[in-house]
Amino acid sequence: MPHPADDRTFRLPLHLRPHRYDATLSVDLDAKRFSGTERIELRAAEPAEEIVLHAAELDVTRAALHAGGRVIAVASISPAPVSETLILRFAEPMPRGEGTLELAWTGRMTAGLRGLYLAGSGLAATQFEAADARRVFPSFDEPGFKATWRLAVEAPSGAVVLSNGAPEREEALGDGRKRVWFAETPPLPTYLVALVAGPIESFAAVNVRGVPVRTWASPEKVSLTAFGQDVAVEVLPRLEDYFGVPYAFGKVDQVGLPEFEAGAMENAGLVTYREVALLLDPQTASLAQKKRVAEVVTHELAHQWFGNWVTMTWWDDLWLNEAFATWMSYKIVDAWNPAWRVWLEFDQGKAAAMHLDALRSTHPIHAEIRDVNAAGEAFDLITYEKGGAVLRMIEGYLGVERFRDGIRLYMRRHAKGNAVADDLWSALAEASGEPVLELANAWIGKPGFPLVRIFREGRKLTLEQRRFFSETGVGEGDDTLWPVPLVVRHGEGERVVEERILLRERRAELELSGEVEPAFLCANAGATGFYRVAYDAAGLEALGRSLARLAPAERIQLISDEWALVRSGEREIGAFLDLVTRFGGEEDHAVLDELVARLSAIEHRLLVDGDRLRFAALVATLFGPRLAEVGWDSTPGEPDAVRLRRASAVRALGLVARSAGVVHEVTARLDRWTSGDRGALEPNLHDPAVAMAARSGDEARFDRFRALFAKETDPAFRRRFLLALATFEDPALAMRGIELAFTDEVPLQDVASFVATLLANRTARGPFWTRLRADWERLHARVKGAPMLLRRIIEAMGALVERRELEEAEAFLAAHPVDEARQAIAQTLERLRQDVALRERTQGEIGRWLEAR
Ligand SMILES: [Zn+2]
Repeated sequence: MPHPADDRTFRLPLHLRPHRYDATLSVDLDAKRFSGTERIELRAAEPAEEIVLHAAELDVTRAALHAGGRVIAVASISPAPVSETLILRFAEPMPRGEGTLELAWTGRMTAGLRGLYLAGSGLAATQFEAADARRVFPSFDEPGFKATWRLAVEAPSGAVVLSNGAPEREEALGDGRKRVWFAETPPLPTYLVALVAGPIESFAAVNVRGVPVRTWASPEKVSLTAFGQDVAVEVLPRLEDYFGVPYAFGKVDQVGLPEFEAGAMENAGLVTYREVALLLDPQTASLAQKKRVAEVVTHELAHQWFGNWVTMTWWDDLWLNEAFATWMSYKIVDAWNPAWRVWLEFDQGKAAAMHLDALRSTHPIHAEIRDVNAAGEAFDLITYEKGGAVLRMIEGYLGVERFRDGIRLYMRRHAKGNAVADDLWSALAEASGEPVLELANAWIGKPGFPLVRIFREGRKLTLEQRRFFSETGVGEGDDTLWPVPLVVRHGEGERVVEERILLRERRAELELSGEVEPAFLCANAGATGFYRVAYDAAGLEALGRSLARLAPAERIQLISDEWALVRSGEREIGAFLDLVTRFGGEEDHAVLDELVARLSAIEHRLLVDGDRLRFAALVATLFGPRLAEVGWDSTPGEPDAVRLRRASAVRALGLVARSAGVVHEVTARLDRWTSGDRGALEPNLHDPAVAMAARSGDEARFDRFRALFAKETDPAFRRRFLLALATFEDPALAMRGIELAFTDEVPLQDVASFVATLLANRTARGPFWTRLRADWERLHARVKGAPMLLRRIIEAMGALVERRELEEAEAFLAAHPVDEARQAIAQTLERLRQDVALRERTQGEIGRWLEAR
């Protein structure tokens, strides 16, 4: 009979639980190998014939079990590679009660960005979430098995060595090596264990209510750590106050790593980051970069409570972890710096999640996770952004204080332990006295979201809900219903009324309060609801006339909803373009950014060559006056709102409309800036400027950008110059960009972005798409140790445009299935099918609309 561990969906039995690891890991950076020894203290709830624990590609050289006052001989050690486990069988059963398992092993650093890997020159780092601790430590590598960790690490004497606990003691070993012992941690799941060893530096620690906080980087980048450090120092006390529980892990180290797969990782007490998500120079960083760093740092620190102190029992509640940290980071950053209006960025994430959630291949927030690949695939927009939006909706429904009280109750009740989603809902229900379970489970358990149709006659309002699909004609028979907490705002003259409605039925009618007929009605006030609204023709017309009465978030939601209705075939694209022209007087940069995004998608995907000039003229009408108002030169002390409005206009005119004048001006200013004139180009313009200069650039510029990429230390500039190399439209230079994609000159962590940039490049797309398929094995071999990047590469295929390309993608992915990206493949192809159909459906119409204009 096969052992259950021969199945990839195998989960460890619950009768054996570790409660303490005492481990020593010796890292040999030159040979890229390591060796380890550990004692795992565990408890058997019943006599155990065998111990099964995780280990992947480790060579276990010794095993011994101490239990019942004696040493029990290990009869066999059998690896089960499919489930990445080891089966230890004993000469006699382990008796019920305490035991200690001793193991010794050796292993290799991985070539990817998982397990223990090379994160920079001479710099070793770990990345264990979701399930890669097993590549370094034989362990019970599931989140439900929390245990304390006492770790010692052996590394070169000159290396800085960090782990979850504070260093307690250090000893020279001779041969230029040392051993560092770290303080024992509170109970942790294996995915939060971490170490970093190598040449990194930081400024002195800042003490925050007794907790030392430090931010680390490679020595040449240590000057870029101050901003990320300030964020941590600012938000840590705010998080403590919110949760009502002090920070539990003794110290905070934040480390920027040159090679890193995700954005950041919340290892307890040792948070690791992709450099662009932590390091920046406040003098040259755009506001978007600063907000991103603030948001990511706060997200990871929020996890120290939500995830690290109270941990999900299994990966099916990953969403709880990520949704909470996502929502919390915006909440805290907004309280810290309200002028940044970060909720508008949260809304952008929500909008992207809604596009994904309108596919048939979406999944509920709470999804069944059967194996490790599925756990990896769960790190998506639904988990983070939709989950966060649903929490925000529930907070809105319960009120800020009752919601916070419920969170505090949950933290106290499950301290140091594990919990499931229902534990959170119970705590929120207890603290608020409201039926949270019904509301939450409907939104967590069902895929998709409702479209709410609004019909109004005078003060009589009819509401109707049905599940929204972005594919024409799909969903007619779907009978999913949600409890939709609607906030409706309507007004006439000075009088504005806000009404709250919980729509449970398919259809409801109600009378609006007040005595006069409203001039406008917004059915998603504040844009906090996770639903779309389709107004009747008169309602839409009234909103178009009353844009100034809507908040920026509501104007963005209106554009987003109308665009979604164009995609689903319910609205003509002409009607959407009519709406766009209403925004001629728009001044809010966030709304302008939303318009740029929509116009850019139309330009990339829907426009035929014959319509380009007229389309450019439309963009110029909308954005030309914005640029004329603010001018090119930024004055010292100029408000961010003005700088960002300028950046939005420059992107629209230079990148979407391809205005020769704007491209020329920007390129000239970029040249002045790179030769040292820091006043020539305001930081928010750097991204579009480099992209524009590359698009129209010649060979000399290609070589210059390539050299700048090689010597730049600031991660944002480095990334900018790197992606520029995939942006050149000169055919010969596009080919050089394509060649680079297959070399190590592109850092592994940036391969997916580089590929996506090539596929978005008009000239490079065709030849690169051919080359990508021909040389797939080569690219795949490079990224297979970073499955998240592999998924991003699949998603990048969504930038293809023509039906022929779609058919090629379908055939290619059918012939080259990628196990780690099954969901990403289904979603990318489904979306691309819709995009191609949209292109075919709208082409003549866009041309006619532009001509009639
Ligand atoms: Zn997270």
